[in-house]
Amino acid sequence: MDKIKMQAPIVEMDGDEMTRILWKIIKEELLLPFIDLNTEYYDLGLEHRDATNDKVTTEAAEATKKYGVAVKCATITPNAARVKEYGLKEMWKSPNGTIRAILDGTVFRAPIIVKGIEPYVKTWTKPITIARHAYGDVYKAAEMKIPGPGICELVYTDANGVETREPIHEFKGPGVLQGMHNLNRSIESFARCCFSYALDTRQDLWFATKDTISKKYDHTFKDIFQEIYDKEYAGKFSKAGITYFYTLIDDAVARVIKSEGGYIWACKNYDGDVMSDMVATAFGSLAMMTSVLVSPDGNYEYEAAHGTVQRHYYKYLKGESTSTNSVATIFAWSGALRKRGELDGSKRLQEFADFLESATIQTIEDGIMTKDLALMTTIPDPHVAESSEFIKAIRERLERKLGC
Ligand code: NAD
Repeated sequence: MDKIKMQAPIVEMDGDEMTRILWKIIKEELLLPFIDLNTEYYDLGLEHRDATNDKVTTEAAEATKKYGVAVKCATITPNAARVKEYGLKEMWKSPNGTIRAILDGTVFRAPIIVKGIEPYVKTWTKPITIARHAYGDVYKAAEMKIPGPGICELVYTDANGVETREPIHEFKGPGVLQGMHNLNRSIESFARCCFSYALDTRQDLWFATKDTISKKYDHTFKDIFQEIYDKEYAGKFSKAGITYFYTLIDDAVARVIKSEGGYIWACKNYDGDVMSDMVATAFGSLAMMTSVLVSPDGNYEYEAAHGTVQRHYYKYLKGESTSTNSVATIFAWSGALRKRGELDGSKRLQEFADFLESATIQTIEDGIMTKDLALMTTIPDPHVAESSEFIKAIRERLERKLGC
C-alpha cells in the first residue's frame, strides 16, 4: 500500500527512560512503515530540557496551540534524586504542569477495555472516563494549626478596602484550619471542556459535588455547569442524543459502581484525584489508561497515564529483557492521529487509528501480552512477550488489517 499522507503536523513530544525506548520502537514498527509521518519534534527528555533551561517544554506547548494536536511520551518530573542522577542545573518543574498551565485544559482519563482483562467491578463493560478539574481547592489552600482557644473568621477585603466577614469557628482548644478557593473563570473553562468532550466522544456527562453541605462553594460549581449547559450545550446534546446529569457526589459513587460505564464523570479536583486512581485500579492496570488534555479553545494533547517505568529502564540498561506494556502509549498515538484525521478531513488517517487500536487489542485477546497483564488475565496460558516482541506481534495484525 502507498503510505498515508498527513496535511498538517502533530506536535511530537519525546520523553524519558523506558517509555522513550518504547516510543522509538512504536514509531519504527507501527507508524513509519504505513504513514508519511508529519510531526514537529520536541525532545522533552530530561537531558534536553536541562540543556534548553526547560524552554523546549514551553515551545512544545506553544506549538500545540498552533497545530491543535500533540502526542506526548512520559517524562521524568525531577526530584532531588533526579537532580543528582542527571546533574541538572535546576529541579525543573513537571512538564505536564507547564503544558497544562499554557493550554489551560482539563485532563480526561479512560481505560482501554480488552476481553480477558476483566474489571473488578463486574458490571463495567464500557469505559468510564474521568474528567478532573485541575485548578484550586485543597491543592492551592492555605492551612493553619490552631494552637489554642481563639476565633477564626473568613475575611474578604475588596478593592476599596471594605471588609466582609464570615465566622468559621470559635476554638476552645487546639485544632486545624484551612482556606481554599476557586475561580469562576476556571470552573467555566472546566465545564466547557467537559461539555465539548462529551459531544466529541458522544458520551453522557455526569457531574457531582456536595452542594447540599457546601451551599456556596460547591453550589457555585453546580450553578456554573447548569448555566453553561442551558445556554450553550442543551440543544447540541439533545441533537447528539446524549444527556447531562448532575447529582450529589455520594449518589454518584453509588451509581458508578452499579453502572455499566460508557460516560464521562466530571470531578472536582480532589474527587478526580481519588476517583481516577480508583477507576484505573478497578479496570485492571495503570498501563491501560489513556489520558488526553483538552483545552477550552480546542487543542488536544494525548499521552499514556503512566510514568516512565523507571525500574524496567534500569533492567534495559543492564541488557536484561523487559516486558513493558506499550498499549497506552500506542493509544496516545492513535488518539492523536485520529484527531488529526478528523480536523484535516483525512478518512485514511482516522481508519488507520482504528486499525492500530483494534490490532493492539486483538494481540492481547490472542493471548500475547506483557507481564503486567499476564499476571491478571483470565485468558488461559498467556504468552508473556518481551517489550519489542509485543509491538512486533501488533504489527503483524496491523499489516493484515491494512491488507499489506
Ligand atoms: P510509573 O507509572 O512509571 O510506574 C508505577 C508502577 O506501575 C511501577 O511499578 C511500574 O512498574 C508500573 N507500570 C507503569 N507503567 C507500566 C507499563 N507501561 N508497563 C508495565 N508496568 C508499568 O510511575 P513512577 O514509578 O511513580 O514514576 C517513574 C517516573 O515517571 C518518575 O520520574 C515520574 O516523575 C514520572 N511520571 C511521569 C508521568 C507523565 O509523564 N505523565 C506520570 C507519572 C510519573
